[in-house]
Amino acid sequence: MQIQTCRAIVTGGASGLGEATIRTIVQNGGKAVIFDQSEENGLRLQNELGEAVLFLKADVTIDEDIQEAVSKAAAFMGGVNTVVNCAGIGIAEKVLGRNGVHNLSLFSKVIQVNLIGTFNVIRIAAEKMTSNKVNEQGERGVIINTASVAAYDGQIGQAAYSASKGGIVGMTLPIARELARYGIRVMTIAPGLFHTPMFDTLPQEAKDSLGNMVPFPSRLGFPSEYAQLVQSIIENPMLNGETIRLDGAIRMQPK
Ligand code: NAD
Repeated sequence: MQIQTCRAIVTGGASGLGEATIRTIVQNGGKAVIFDQSEENGLRLQNELGEAVLFLKADVTIDEDIQEAVSKAAAFMGGVNTVVNCAGIGIAEKVLGRNGVHNLSLFSKVIQVNLIGTFNVIRIAAEKMTSNKVNEQGERGVIINTASVAAYDGQIGQAAYSASKGGIVGMTLPIARELARYGIRVMTIAPGLFHTPMFDTLPQEAKDSLGNMVPFPSRLGFPSEYAQLVQSIIENPMLNGETIRLDGAIRMQPK
């Protein structure tokens, strides 16, 4: 699929990797709808980027929110042929912490947003995509999820986060296999360390030291580099059913 034909839903599109994805799609002539909980950031981006972008306040974990938002997104763009799932949260808590065992509802919350939220958007958007006409390559759409290198080398304190991201990696192939008959591809990106608002609160020294852990290039990734991979996945029809690490060869240490 050519990026200028993109009619994309980007969850978590109001910030960080999702925001960079929105910018790349729009700069290349596509249309995009931001699904995010942050009204302030979402509206700012919508106002900045103009008529190719719509912000919809939606929580990826809520069935009705996403049913309604997918319908509105399709009406705004004249269909949906791309989904980029970036909405996610991260927490750090040990199984056996100083103040007791891992909080169970916090574990559930991370699974709910990162894994179940991703699945919720996939199932509703995929149904919408099945009504698309196939393009010249026989495609009706592409779905791109965001896992993390923590799916493979999670650190101490990342039990919930790693479980949620491992779940995304695990469901990529079975969903790609199922949706193949509709001409819908499913891919996942597992980013390493990227310079998003997540890192803004850290002093420069801490950012440099994190960057130095990356073999090459020894720095945090730029969100635009994540968006560049999203573009490649959209455009390359043979990419399907796989998770790609985008990490400068970093392998996270236990802590
Ligand atoms: P970010 O915090 O800048 O953006 C995440 C966005 O998701 C925010 O705008 C937030 O409002 C939105 N969001 C959170 N919960 C939501 C919900 N329930 N419904 C709708 N929107 C919701 O984070 P980021 O760094 O851009 O990360 C994007 C994704 O990439 C996340 O899934 C994260 O786990 C993953 N990731 C990031 C990095 C990194 O280094 N930045 C590394 C690996 C994986």
